[in-house]
Amino acid sequence: MNSKEDIISLLNVKNDDIISLISAAGSKRNTKTITYSKNVFLPLTNICRNECGYCTFKKTPGDETARILMNYNEIFDILNKADEYKCKEALFTFGERPEETEDVKIALGKLGYNSMVEYLYFICDETLKNTGLLPHSNPGIIKKKELKLLKEVNASMGLMLETTSKRLMETIVHEKSPGKDPDLRIKTIEDAGKLKIPFTTGLLIGIGETIEERAESLLEIKRLNDKYGHIQEIIIQNFKPKHGIPMETWPEPSIIEMMKMVAVTKLLFPDIGVQIPPNLNKETAQVFLLAGADDWGGVSPLTQDYVNPEAPWPELDDLKNKTEEMGLYLDERLPVYPNFINSEFLSDKLMDKIKSF
Ligand code: SF4
Repeated sequence: MNSKEDIISLLNVKNDDIISLISAAGSKRNTKTITYSKNVFLPLTNICRNECGYCTFKKTPGDETARILMNYNEIFDILNKADEYKCKEALFTFGERPEETEDVKIALGKLGYNSMVEYLYFICDETLKNTGLLPHSNPGIIKKKELKLLKEVNASMGLMLETTSKRLMETIVHEKSPGKDPDLRIKTIEDAGKLKIPFTTGLLIGIGETIEERAESLLEIKRLNDKYGHIQEIIIQNFKPKHGIPMETWPEPSIIEMMKMVAVTKLLFPDIGVQIPPNLNKETAQVFLLAGADDWGGVSPLTQDYVNPEAPWPELDDLKNKTEEMGLYLDERLPVYPNFINSEFLSDKLMDKIKSF
């Protein structure tokens, strides 16, 4: 099923064939274990050069809830609490190229940094030195030399491909988001592959992409992974309408569409984690396990999901119960998957830190 036509036909199956598809994908899961990473979420700034039609994270300077730049003390107050909760992943997220906004540039300059990536490197390095957490950064579109720098201090990194559809650059979805040009995102993911960075990517489902475009997006991730072997997990994220966003009245994808996407992704990538965010699928998360999902992603006992603040994380006990009800087991993993814990993919700093666990 490696051709676009095969994938499209699976994404279009109906009636009993849906059950056959789900069951075939479910049987591809290698173990009875469903993993998660105990994390803490640090939104270093919510300033962003893009303006996606579905976003509630981005703020502009002057907004009441704008966070120009988290400082060292704010960050380490949270990281130290996360240490007490025995979190292992420090998830650093921020808007794309925030230093293109004057307020962030000035705030970085006051701390002695020219770019967000320079500041992020410092924070990740301090995290490694002073806490029991491993950094996982989502820095958006960055240059290869910046990825190379961050590899030294990150256990893994991530960038959602979201979609390969260039058509959406002309719609409400991405018309004000230069960084959502699929070519730029593919280049960053490809550069990460060349640098052997364990990488998380994924698709955003229900933003106006066609079935054909979903198939093309999956095949692009497959092309990148076949070439570089660096994709550790693929997130299948459902669009959720939120109050006040330009796409507020858009429908969300149906559970059947989502299950088919999860199933086809597992069939295409049997050895790669397929992740469903449980906080965006509160009532329905369990059914995705039938379709081959095998990872719940980062779950925080401490901080909210700032990208989806309306969707609180499930309590870990609840997640454990839901997983066990399906005859499966919940197991904590690190932000880097076991196959990537070696000196090809991780710097000496990271290898030493992980050996100390
Ligand atoms: S979704 Fe991400 S890239 Fe798009 S506007 Fe929001 S923060 Fe920026």
